[in-house]
Amino acid sequence: MKILLIHPIKRSGYNYTDNVKPYIPVITLPILAGLTPKDINVELCDESVDEVNFNTDADLIGITGITSQINRGYEIADIFRKKGKKVVMGGIHVSAMPEEAKKHATSIVIGEAEDLWEVIIEDFRGNQLKEVYKSDAYTDLKKLVIPRYDLLKLNRYRNSSGSNIPRLPIQASRGCPFNCKFCSVTKFWGPKIRTKPLENVEKELLHIRSLGTNRIFFTDDNFIANISYTRNLLELLKKHNFSWICQLSTNIYQHEDLIFEMSKAGCSGVCMGIESFSEENLVNINKKFNKMANYERLFSLFNRNNIRVTASMMIGLDGDTKETLEKMVRMLIRFKVSHALFYLIMLLPGTQLREQFLKENRIIDHNWDHQNGKIVTFQPKSFQSQDLQDYYWELYNEFYSYKSIIRRIFTVANLKGGLNSIFIPLKTNLYFCRKLKNRLHPID
Ligand code: SF4
Repeated sequence: MKILLIHPIKRSGYNYTDNVKPYIPVITLPILAGLTPKDINVELCDESVDEVNFNTDADLIGITGITSQINRGYEIADIFRKKGKKVVMGGIHVSAMPEEAKKHATSIVIGEAEDLWEVIIEDFRGNQLKEVYKSDAYTDLKKLVIPRYDLLKLNRYRNSSGSNIPRLPIQASRGCPFNCKFCSVTKFWGPKIRTKPLENVEKELLHIRSLGTNRIFFTDDNFIANISYTRNLLELLKKHNFSWICQLSTNIYQHEDLIFEMSKAGCSGVCMGIESFSEENLVNINKKFNKMANYERLFSLFNRNNIRVTASMMIGLDGDTKETLEKMVRMLIRFKVSHALFYLIMLLPGTQLREQFLKENRIIDHNWDHQNGKIVTFQPKSFQSQDLQDYYWELYNEFYSYKSIIRRIFTVANLKGGLNSIFIPLKTNLYFCRKLKNRLHPID
């Protein structure tokens, strides 16, 4: 028996043949492959670096994707079903929109697939696939699963390190208690933090090293969600000499020493959801724990410890005006933030923000392809939608202007940190600057 697992491309105007490659492979497909019984042949297709083989001899097709990929996922599912294949679809979007997904798949999975995957395969073998599989509980992360990255075409991802293997994803925990209005993490993964046993994380690390890289990305929604676990994880990482990046919440300012420990453990970059420099906006999106008064010190601590910060910002919130957004860019430059990612509000299914915009009748574009953070899909409060669209690119170009790059990268801390502290962020900033000139999002 053979299974083909597909991660569709985001349809944003280019495809895998263009020179626009992701930096980090997907984690879901390799996890599912790792869970698949050994007697089954599994093929993985990450469509951002690979082409879907519609003439495959696979018996079962599995498709997962986020909202901006889902239309392409449905298109792929429809083609395979016309050819008589059975198609199982799952993931965060399908879980939020099961009735929509049912129209395209033989079976859908609501919630995490890990506990259901083997059942689905057995049902398929017995020709008894059900229409809906729903997990009753959150997956216990104690079970060891080694993701099968070796089944991806690893040499096709963008890689700045000069090696053939890109930075690989790893996940140590799931869940987030914060429930920010725009985010579907708490609803999908749950408010309780689940952690993997450290001995299993260690086995995954060793597996990744055996593939030929020591560069990893923690996909955990919040790397510091369980501080005592994080401290133990850092001790483990110190033993293994990995270079890693992660996502974390700004309340790390309550545990300043962690920044130093992270640096000692090999952390080279963090992504933080700053979202906005307006208190009004932060209250409106239920992210009141972001305390602007702490940012200057926080960014400076990361810079001094040679950890590059990527600030993730939301654009188009109700409190945003040209003045507040200009101030946002000025502050990011003043704080010498290495990288910033700007996202126009995304109204993802299952989030409180989408419900609010639906009630207010302010969604002007219902195409899932456009929920990618680059397109205005809503009626903003203080802008015409096209003005906000144009202004979004202007803000980005201002942040990645040569003048801004020089001010943010040639800092005392970076100069003290040695050549790489300047060279690496400079290279990515210039790359982002080039992409933005063509209106491509930096990390597309
Ligand atoms: S945005 Fe971050 S902090 Fe907020 S709920 Fe999502 S994962 Fe948690």
